Amino acid sequence: MNPRIYFDHSATTPLDPRVLTAMGPFLGGAFGNPSSLHQEGRAARAAIETARAQVASLIGAEPEEIIFTASGTEADNLALMGAVRASGRPGHVVTTSIEHAAILETCRFLAGSGTKITHLPVDADGLVSPQSLLRALQSQVTVVSIMAANNVVGTLQPIEELAHLTKLHDVLFHTDAVQAAGKISLDVNRLHVDLLSLSAHKLHGPKGIGALYVRKGTRLSPIVFGGGQERGLRSATENVAGIVGFGAAAAIAREELADEAIRLTEFRERIAKELSRSLPQSYLFGHPVHRLPGHISFGLRGQEREVGKLLAALDAAGVAVSAGSACSANHSGEPSGVLLAMGYDDERARGLLRLSLGRFNTEQEVDRFLEILPCAVAAFSPTNRYEPSHSLEALANFV
Ligand code: PLP
Repeated sequence: MNPRIYFDHSATTPLDPRVLTAMGPFLGGAFGNPSSLHQEGRAARAAIETARAQVASLIGAEPEEIIFTASGTEADNLALMGAVRASGRPGHVVTTSIEHAAILETCRFLAGSGTKITHLPVDADGLVSPQSLLRALQSQVTVVSIMAANNVVGTLQPIEELAHLTKLHDVLFHTDAVQAAGKISLDVNRLHVDLLSLSAHKLHGPKGIGALYVRKGTRLSPIVFGGGQERGLRSATENVAGIVGFGAAAAIAREELADEAIRLTEFRERIAKELSRSLPQSYLFGHPVHRLPGHISFGLRGQEREVGKLLAALDAAGVAVSAGSACSANHSGEPSGVLLAMGYDDERARGLLRLSLGRFNTEQEVDRFLEILPCAVAAFSPTNRYEPSHSLEALANFV
């Protein structure tokens, strides 16, 4: 039996064994509370501060600008709610129509208490236009939040250019870099961002630990209250093992980023080329060039409603892929909000398959996937002369 092929790194990534090794002591004997003054406490504090420096270094920040949170979702909530609350006014948040639910739902919540929300449109590639941001900046704005990389279609936004515009208007800029961090190089000073969200489990670190970069001098109010940990911005006894794992994952990602980006881009391009050759009914979503290295989203003309079955057939044949984001409604056959915002009609917006490759994927896995995919697609083709079950039997040979 062949080992399974995991092509769903945008949902989550396997823990790097080196990260697990780094975390080990803090799941065992090194159990101190970092706020305690004794030796056990001081050891935990030192480990947290090392990890803080490692995470800061991944994005060119100072260690004291990193606030650990329980997730990327919480970092997004803290960025927007914290900025609005600190302004002392209902305020105005400018964001895009293709953000993750962690941003969109926070905006919806803020709107309920009177905050004005503007959703910038995107073009067919998923790009926000600087002109639309400039127009939005004509009115008073509290914070602009635009994701660095989209989780569904993989498009990268021109963050440097967009954030620069907000600086001309003295407006805070936040970017959700949960999908981008560790995959493309990010430097908070080159990008001119004030707030940036991260999540460890998207870069081969543990789940349940995230961080918000907060530029020195940025006014932010907490959304969790208690003992005043994390400079008063995120009270709670720290998740020491998670933080240590995040630090180790960030250090590895920084070290290996350049080579990995080249390797994964080559895989992506090979898959894209083979898709257009062996499945002429396929079409790609997202920007052709400004995109995450290992990320491919595609649809199949005439088979949009078969995506769920295709995903199940691939799963049965040993390949894990996704239909849109792990937390989108797409699994229930609903159109993807991201694709609708990009101008696709209802039918097309139902039919997205996402492949997201990562550190432990190999060329052999790409080869095997490219053999399996056309068989899985053929099983559900409207022109298939055979029953899907015949093709599915053939697929079983791959397992
Ligand atoms: N933002 C983006 C763009 C994401 O893709 C995700 C997770 O899928 C999140 C935020 C939420 O991160 P977490 O899973 O750590 O809450």
